Amino acid sequence: MRDRLEELAEEGLAALGSAATEEDLRRVEQDYLGRHGRITAVLRQLGGLPPAERPAVGRLANEIKERLARELEARLEILRRSRLEAELAGEGFDPTLPGPPARAGSLHPIERVRRELEDLFRSMGYAVAGGPEVETEEHNFDALNIPPDHPAREGHDTLWIEGGDRERLCMRTHTSPVQVRALRRHGVPLRVVAPGRVFRQETQDATHDHTFHQMEGLVVDRGVGVPHMLHAMRSLLSGLFGRELQTRLRPGYFPFVEPGFELDARCPFCKSGCSVCKGSTWIELMPGGLVHPEVLRASGVDPEDYSGFAFGLGLSRIAMLRYGIDDIRWMMSGDLRFLEQFDA
Ligand SMILES: [Zn+2]
Repeated sequence: MRDRLEELAEEGLAALGSAATEEDLRRVEQDYLGRHGRITAVLRQLGGLPPAERPAVGRLANEIKERLARELEARLEILRRSRLEAELAGEGFDPTLPGPPARAGSLHPIERVRRELEDLFRSMGYAVAGGPEVETEEHNFDALNIPPDHPAREGHDTLWIEGGDRERLCMRTHTSPVQVRALRRHGVPLRVVAPGRVFRQETQDATHDHTFHQMEGLVVDRGVGVPHMLHAMRSLLSGLFGRELQTRLRPGYFPFVEPGFELDARCPFCKSGCSVCKGSTWIELMPGGLVHPEVLRASGVDPEDYSGFAFGLGLSRIAMLRYGIDDIRWMMSGDLRFLEQFDA
């Protein structure tokens, strides 16, 4: 039986040596090492041996199986390598070609608009400022001339943070507190824009969301007046829409400006009314005005010496106008089907 096993080992190794393909090798494996293979067949007869001889023959059989298995692995490896080399040397294979493209992300429409506007304002000498999203009551309301009992405070539907020890904290309801922060920090003269997220306790619908984006603009210097504000707002609009849009100012009331205005622009999408302008051919774009003396004072600026203007721009709204997005809830949805439309 030992002789038979040794014979099988020789044969097996020879068969592996002459196998030219992986398929051949697998066939030899089956033939010798498989459940119905030749070595197994010999082992089945182990019971016919005298008990004393069985362990040694069993060990020999296992040794031979291992030897064949090692040889099989070695042969498979050689085949894999030579196949790879053949592919590399073969025609039509160019190792300098780029691999499959990596999936790149894309910029959110609000991010695109924000970057564009930042560039535009930087080119006009503005700095970009920022502030915290969790804001003190003082920055968000008091310093902006919104007294404690003022209806504007209620109107903002503020999300208050529970458990502030020293000061009442809220999620900022507008980017205007950055005006106060920037003035206190940098003093005058000052020229900044402040983009960022703001939060309101709103019931969501197609035009309202609890989280949206604004951009605040602020210029404070000696002798700044309404004409400067208009110029800034108009430059902003022509930068955004790529051409001059007819504008009009209406009086508007906001506690932190005096006088306050609403700037409307001619609808960039139609001549005689469409769904965006709701048939009026005008769209409301920007509230703004001259910074209220109380706001300047609260920010450490003497209103006798300095004046300024401020305006607020809804980045979410601008992005919706720009890209024809009809529901603000898409903006924060995180839905890739929506976001992938803004590739490249
Ligand atoms: Zn229109």
